[in-house]
Amino acid sequence: MREVAVLGATGSIGASALDVIARHPSELRASVLAAGRDVPGLVELCRKHRPDHAVIADEGALEALRSGLSEARLDTRAHAGAGAIEALASSDACDTVVAAIVGAAGLPSTLAAARSGKRLLLANKESLVLAGELFMAAAREGGATVVPIDSEHNAIFQCLPDAAARSGLRRIILTASGGPFRGRSRESLADVTVEQAVAHPKWSMGRKISVDSATLMNKGLEVIEAHHLFGVDGGRIDVLVHPQSLVHSLVEFVDGSTLAQLGLPDMRTSLAVGFGWPERIESGVSGLDLLAEGGRLEFEPPDLETFPCLRLAFEALAAGGTAPAVLNAANEVAVDAFLERRIGFLSIPRLVEETLSALPPVSAVSLAALHEADAEARALSGQAIARHQTT
Ligand code: NAD
Ligand code: MG
Repeated sequence: MREVAVLGATGSIGASALDVIARHPSELRASVLAAGRDVPGLVELCRKHRPDHAVIADEGALEALRSGLSEARLDTRAHAGAGAIEALASSDACDTVVAAIVGAAGLPSTLAAARSGKRLLLANKESLVLAGELFMAAAREGGATVVPIDSEHNAIFQCLPDAAARSGLRRIILTASGGPFRGRSRESLADVTVEQAVAHPKWSMGRKISVDSATLMNKGLEVIEAHHLFGVDGGRIDVLVHPQSLVHSLVEFVDGSTLAQLGLPDMRTSLAVGFGWPERIESGVSGLDLLAEGGRLEFEPPDLETFPCLRLAFEALAAGGTAPAVLNAANEVAVDAFLERRIGFLSIPRLVEETLSALPPVSAVSLAALHEADAEARALSGQAIARHQTT
């Protein structure tokens, strides 16, 4: 029996993970559920999955969680605070961790799970962008088994499961759906609404990653993620827009072979790979009907003029040091402001670019240096938004 901590249980990945877990009652059990602020949502999940521990990140919500659990007559133990999530992620309350908290807030628990040698189903891509080298070293030293859950990286993982399979790798080709604004001109994006930006054509996801998909920052974060996970520099990572979202990524070898993984756009496939690997287990996702999209798989180059975030991410990866941390932090602040309707869509890349040029990269040898870069970038982009609103 695998005892699973689902961190970010009330989110989109959390729901998919719990769906796969519930399909395997004799092999998988949710022993820890953690969420940000949604106490009723968390209690409801506890009713259904009966974990040993429930954690709410919001420190002020401990009493509400306690009383919700006792009203539901559950003996699940209540905890609150980021420190409790981190402690449980590395405790013997679980042997497997689904890291599905959104944003840099997921870093402490993701790192803790890596250090303590868990099987780690890694969805929280911002952790890798912020602290990829430290994370990979922690996973190596802790003996963690990392299975990437991001569909592209899960596809690459399936094509390159170990070091031997990676010999002779020439390049990685990440596919991108192109998001809801594929084919649009830059000018036409000035007035797009939050509703339009989060209406992804192929995937149903949380709001932050949906906006990232619309700006193509999601693909930029994924380029950096692929660099850390598979040890490939930016020059050997290509991006192709593939509107059908059936080919989840490809790898090319020196002998001219290209391997790809295909499947319906449903995150339960990646999660089932993570829980079962090296075995294959049921995920609830049906097989692919290649004729469904008119028998067509299309590919086109990304439009970096209209979607500069992808270019900015490649540049941050090449600059190295604290640049990816700055890119990620400025983007999180800008996306929050867009979702709160404080800035327009085109201000997202502008803010990220301004913040990157204001904070030249320094070497990122320690977590402290990365946290400092993250905090500086948040402060600077926050100030820029405030200025922007008063002018
Ligand atoms: P979501 O917004 O649906 O869910 C986020 C979860 O994180 C929620 O449970 C929320 O309560 C929790 N959370 C937020 N802030 C927190 C905090 N400070 N402390 C603890 N918990 C907190 O997001 P999602 O779409 O499920 O994405 C989660 C992560 O997975 C992101 O990093 C995203 O990039 C990645 N991812 C998601 C998908 C997808 O299909 N949804 C695909 C690939 C990668
Ligand atoms: Mg992805």
